[in-house]
Amino acid sequence: MNPNMKIFHMLFPGGLDRALTLSYDDGVVQDRRLSELCRSRGVKCTFNLNSGTLGRVETATAPGREPLDISCVTSEELQTVYAGHEVAAHGLWHSSLPDLGTPGAMYEIITDRVNLEKLSGGAVQSFAYPFGTFNEDVKTLLRLAGFRSARTVRSTGAFALPGDFLEWDPTCHHDDPRLMELLETFCDDAAPRFGGPRLFYLWGHAYEFDARHNWDVIERFLDRAAPLGGKVWFATNGEIVRYTEAYRALVWSADGGAVTNPTTTALWIGVGREGAVEVPAGATVRLL
Ligand SMILES: [Zn+2]
Repeated sequence: MNPNMKIFHMLFPGGLDRALTLSYDDGVVQDRRLSELCRSRGVKCTFNLNSGTLGRVETATAPGREPLDISCVTSEELQTVYAGHEVAAHGLWHSSLPDLGTPGAMYEIITDRVNLEKLSGGAVQSFAYPFGTFNEDVKTLLRLAGFRSARTVRSTGAFALPGDFLEWDPTCHHDDPRLMELLETFCDDAAPRFGGPRLFYLWGHAYEFDARHNWDVIERFLDRAAPLGGKVWFATNGEIVRYTEAYRALVWSADGGAVTNPTTTALWIGVGREGAVEVPAGATVRLL
């Protein structure tokens, strides 16, 4: 290898090479328990809410199945239930957006954002596709409405960051039989840094834990992940997007030997197998 050749790649804040994020949908009452399980362990979750269904009281029934409470949290408790996490959008009424026509889809997207920003008191820029359905028009509408990311339901079983955050494929659903095996792979400190940072992205619906009587699945997952706090960045979807966008805004010199950080966020660059260099906000750093 050319001795002058360096391999640079993104690291997360503090020079960490891994991040963990959760994404749970529909704003159901079981979010109260999930939110607290995460918060007590320092893990962060993005909760994707339908502002039109907040406060809904509903029980799902199906032949051969016990009744399941799928009521939603109320708007009054929204800030308390989701404290420390991210409030994100999931469409006003949970409609399949490609089937609505452009005006209808735009209304679902922008109205949900307006409502949730009023209720949460912050900017809402993350989204999850209802039913996982989307097309290029829906992506364009999201971009125009100011959304920076949207999660699909396509599990990858992998830890890569997406090239396009409006098609953000998660690592796996919590019912995936590979769940703990994937987590152990993710926890492996010896895995090479080459290829960029690793992200474990878990998704699901909190009512599923009631339906399958398996809250122990998420408790086991969180208990295994929580001690990694010093090595893994526990972040919301929005925090990961904002950091990654800032990193992608770095200005590199023509010979790749110097880099300028034009943003207001301190950024970290991995150099080769072990190195980590901080590029403070507004600073230029020579790497070669
Ligand atoms: Zn949903």
